[in-house]
Amino acid sequence: MSRYWSPLVSELQPYVPGEQPKMANLVKLNTNENPFGPSPKVIEAIQKELNDNLRLYPDPEGLALKEAIASYHVDFGIEANQVFVGNGSDEVLAHIFQGLLKHDKPILFPDISYSFYPVYCGLYQIESKVIPLTDSFEINPEDYKRPNGGIIFPNPNAPTGRYLGLQHVEEILQANPDSVVVVDEAYVDFGGDTAIRLVSQYPNLLVCQTLSKARSLAGLRVGFAVGNEELIEALNRVKDSFNSYPLDRLALAGAVAAFEDKQWFEDSCNGVIRERKRVTEELERLGFEVLPSKANFVFARHPDHEGSDVAAKLREQGVIVRHFNKPRISDFLRITIGTSDQNNALIKGLDSL
Ligand SMILES: *Cc1c(COP(=O)(O)O)cnc(C)c1O
Repeated sequence: MSRYWSPLVSELQPYVPGEQPKMANLVKLNTNENPFGPSPKVIEAIQKELNDNLRLYPDPEGLALKEAIASYHVDFGIEANQVFVGNGSDEVLAHIFQGLLKHDKPILFPDISYSFYPVYCGLYQIESKVIPLTDSFEINPEDYKRPNGGIIFPNPNAPTGRYLGLQHVEEILQANPDSVVVVDEAYVDFGGDTAIRLVSQYPNLLVCQTLSKARSLAGLRVGFAVGNEELIEALNRVKDSFNSYPLDRLALAGAVAAFEDKQWFEDSCNGVIRERKRVTEELERLGFEVLPSKANFVFARHPDHEGSDVAAKLREQGVIVRHFNKPRISDFLRITIGTSDQNNALIKGLDSL
């Protein structure tokens, strides 16, 4: 607290990101980074962009990237003016909260979901109502049929990893024609089906994605949203009232290359899916209950051991996973799927407990 702070700042409860340890050689399975690394073509494109042009501002519209994203989704009839790009999907989400989810009625999101949502509500003074997931940690569309100022949920959900089929997403869209429904698809490429295919049918649908997870570019900070032109225009208005150049020249060049290298992307997603299956089987062998995951992590609990305890003991063995000290999920660990070596270290560590 300081007398120099705006009153709002003292009230804020900021998001706490997963630890980025300074210690080398840790097996880092705590922040859902992709273990396979970005496409070499991304690195090449960024290196090519490292020149005297850095004295010039980047394209404020990021048009080349919007076009690359639209053309990647050409089968769904997406055009560049239906795409918004930003500095990581966290920034895109921030603009969504401010520009599309702040109305008289409270917005709805699951009790167990991305912990940044309540933080944005605090920052932008948006009222919210959390909707409990079912006992099996699923989203029940019936629970989203009540008055609201907007709806947001991750799909697959984080940190549960559970995926809600698109027919159920449509049920929520149809029940809420007067609200924006935001589907946060940070993990959709690891086995889910994207709601981007529904954008042309539903003017109230906004789909948000990131290059941090499936495209292995968490360090480049690129995210985007796809939706009806009117929704995108709201985001452009917020962005141009905040920062005209959220994506620098290197990020734009790298992100375009990431969308162009489909093969690398597919191989890396398949690698994660293959390892996810193996890690799930090994955890079950050790007596863990593992929720069915379509993400690059699994959410698991052991009937005989406390989550915080297992996390602490794994850490002693150089393996870090994420534990949330929150109601309903304090027994669970969220474990990022790593390379096969990293996953072996995890299993070995758990075996020895
Ligand atoms: C990782 C994540 C994001 C943020 O991604 P960035 O693009 O790195 O900001 C957004 N939503 C969910 C659910 C995530 O897990």
